[in-house]
Formats: sequence, structure tokens, C-alpha cells
Amino acid sequence: MSLITLTPNGLYCEKANVYIDPWRKVDKALITHAHSDHARKGMKSYLSHHLSVDILKHRLHKHINIQGIEYEKPIVINGVEITFFPAGHIIGSSQIRLRDKHECWVISGDYNISQDELIESFIPVECDTFVTESTFGLPVFQWEDPSIVFEEINKWWKENQSNNHPSVISAYSLGKAQRVIQNIDHSIGPVLTHPAVENINKIFRNSGVNLKSSMVVSDQQQDMLNKSIIICPPGANDSAWLNNIKNHKFAFASGWMALRGTRRRRNAEKGFVLSDHADWNALNKAVALTQAERVFVTHGYTKTFSKWISEKGIESSVLKTLFEGESLDVSNIMV
Ligand SMILES: [Zn+2]
Ligand SMILES: [Zn+2]
Repeated sequence: MSLITLTPNGLYCEKANVYIDPWRKVDKALITHAHSDHARKGMKSYLSHHLSVDILKHRLHKHINIQGIEYEKPIVINGVEITFFPAGHIIGSSQIRLRDKHECWVISGDYNISQDELIESFIPVECDTFVTESTFGLPVFQWEDPSIVFEEINKWWKENQSNNHPSVISAYSLGKAQRVIQNIDHSIGPVLTHPAVENINKIFRNSGVNLKSSMVVSDQQQDMLNKSIIICPPGANDSAWLNNIKNHKFAFASGWMALRGTRRRRNAEKGFVLSDHADWNALNKAVALTQAERVFVTHGYTKTFSKWISEKGIESSVLKTLFEGESLDVSNIMV
């Protein structure tokens, strides 16, 4: 019997009796990170990186039974050693390694190998079997250095400011929003937020994360709004909240902005290609660094990426999971 199997409840390690990011109610869930396709309600107990604990309480229920763990501090359950490693995707995001005497598996969760000062950097972890995401697993997805993208955002903001337009930018409330806040130039003007974003910011600041300052949009004068950049979740476009911000310019920050037509369909005047996931080259690099003999692929362009890996002589197949990857839809963003 394999150390990890795919069951109707999710990825399961029978020997340790734990599930990894399960999608049905189980007793013990190891959680890679707090995005809603990986962390669901109703588990009897949760184990996650300690910086995900308060976010999970906020999103799932304040009384969930949850324990936090540090990176690279293994625990052993019935002969299975379980270790969390940084995944570089959002604050607290983890890859999880499970190994016994015979097998060594790494479940990547979502990951990003580029550096960000807020997020502990991705560490490649050697294993026999690697379960990788492939949200952006097509060669068309090649990210620019994020510092160039943040410069573009600064430039757009300054331009809007000089024409008396508030700059509204849509970014995931958990992850992307904090990266934008940390990396834009606060000397340009006030940095304001939608309440869903500010709630997450507060939790991180209370957990000791050194996130730069931001303030929720309330009854600020139009003069001040015109100088501001305002960060909102993707679900807030076309909302009454957004309509109240008069005369604004609107932009999306997402990896999907690399696809022609996405920006237009989303009614955004501007799209910034900024993702919290690995691009095509980074996925390939990560897979190679694990030195895995076998690679299972989840999320996004699974078939294409799995076929590509197989052609390089590594055993590979698609795992059918309920993980969703980076979405521009409302459902998992307004939480
Ligand atoms: Zn995620
Ligand atoms: Zn995901």
C-alpha cells in the first residue's frame, strides 16, 4: 500500500491517519495554506503553519481545534515523519513532506519560487514522489520580475493622481493584497483598503507580521481618495462599494492578466501580471529540484504539464482534486 493515496475525502496517509487539504469532513487535516480550496470547514482537528492559524480561525470558525507548527520542525505519527516547508505562495503557506522508511512524498500545495520580503521563500525539498500544482502550467505564462510590476503600479497610481482619479486595484484579500501593500511606494499617497482586505491585514499584524500600514476606506474626503490607491478583493468589482468611489480608475493584479482578453472581460482599464503561483519555468525548475522519480499534477493545466514531464522521462499523471488555483471569481475571494 502506498504511503499516500487519493480517496473521496482527499489525499490520505493511512499509516498516520491524516489527510492533506481534505475536501470532506475528516478527523485530522494537515493544511498547506488558508485559501478556501485547501482549507475547508468541518474537520475535527487542523494542523497548519502557525501564521495560518488565526487566518483559519477567521475564515472557518473561531473555535476550530487547530495547532500551529514551525517550518522544518518534524513531528512523527506512527512511524511517519511529517514536516512543513515554506512554499513562498502566501504568508504561512507550506509544502508538506511525509516520509517513512520506504517512501518520501512532498505535497506542494500552491507555491511560488520568486522572493518577497513578507513571505518565507520556497525551499526545494527532495523526495521520491512530488505532488505539484500546475495553475499556470503552460509556456505562455512567464512572469516578469515582480519589482518591475510594482514599478508599473506606482506609475499608474501617480498618473491617476495627477488627473484626480482614485486608483482602485483588485487583488486577492489573502496573499496578493498584502504583497501589493508591502511593495508599492507609500510616499506617493495614502494606501487604503476594502474591509475584507483590512481584516486579513489586522490578523497578520497581530501575529507579528511586519506589514506596512493601510487604512480602510470609510468617509474620506474626495480630495484624499483622489490621491489614494485602494486595494479591494476581485469580488468587489461592480459592487455598490466600488460605485461609491467616484471617478476611480480600476485595475486587476493577477497571473491571468497574461492572457489576452481577460482584462477586457473583467471591465478593468488596466491589468498587471502579478501572481502568487509559479510560472511555467518555475514549475519546471521546482520539479527538477525535488529530483522526484514520480510527479502527480493538480490544479489548472494538469494534462499539458503532466504530459510535458512524462516526455522528460519522469513518471507522471494527473490527480483529480478539488483544488482550484488562482481564480478571478467572486466565490472564494470575499471571505
Ligand atoms: Zn492558494
Ligand atoms: Zn490552490
